[in-house]
Amino acid sequence: MYQVRFYKGDYQWRQKQANQDKCVAYVEHHFNASPNLQSDYTVVITSYNASELSKNWGKSYALRISKEFSVPLGGKGGLLIGGYNGRGDGNLKYTYMPAILLEPLFASNPIHAGWIRSAEGQDKLAKMLADSIIEFFPDGSLIGFSVGHKYKTSRPSDRGAPLSGGGTEADYAEIVMEKAKSLLEKYSPSAVPPPPVIPTVPTNDVRVIKDGKELWVYTDIDEDDELTWDTDNRVLYISSQST
Ligand SMILES: [Zn+2]
Repeated sequence: MYQVRFYKGDYQWRQKQANQDKCVAYVEHHFNASPNLQSDYTVVITSYNASELSKNWGKSYALRISKEFSVPLGGKGGLLIGGYNGRGDGNLKYTYMPAILLEPLFASNPIHAGWIRSAEGQDKLAKMLADSIIEFFPDGSLIGFSVGHKYKTSRPSDRGAPLSGGGTEADYAEIVMEKAKSLLEKYSPSAVPPPPVIPTVPTNDVRVIKDGKELWVYTDIDEDDELTWDTDNRVLYISSQST
């Protein structure tokens, strides 16, 4: 139900192509960088003309990253509006659809760089992005992806900031986006486990149900028996001594 298309060329060109294709959402992926190697926060940038939907989507993504990696939120609740370091405007303002620019972690921070380089860190970043898209655009359709810096006509060798310990911002942003694309294109709402099946006829039986499948049932039980669930020890006590 989702289709992801990567847009290449200069930023304005990418956005105009995404408009023509009628993308329902547009994401540009970066990693942050700072001369201060300790810099440690997650932030999403929107253009000055961004809709409330863009802002809420951006905040939700930043919050997911902040929780997953235990990194503080930058900006205001994880959000910076247009023009920050000259970004946000040119990268997003030509889009007709909700659009966000991601700066989830710092390429310059050695700890963050380790996460960015690891397959596990990339998988988490991709899942947070895909989950935020599924939450805000549940009807699916075409999503536009833009890898920051890479594939610009005007400066083809630009790869953004160097990653502490080796590699570049843009090459890793692309890896994360490719993983998010694969998650989104595989996603199907029916893959979500069905709700547990609860008997429609009221009985006194006690059941264990896992993922909608009944594993165990205990029938020798009266409606006057007392049931107590011990949360700490995960024991269900049945007492037939009527009091
Ligand atoms: Zn960048």
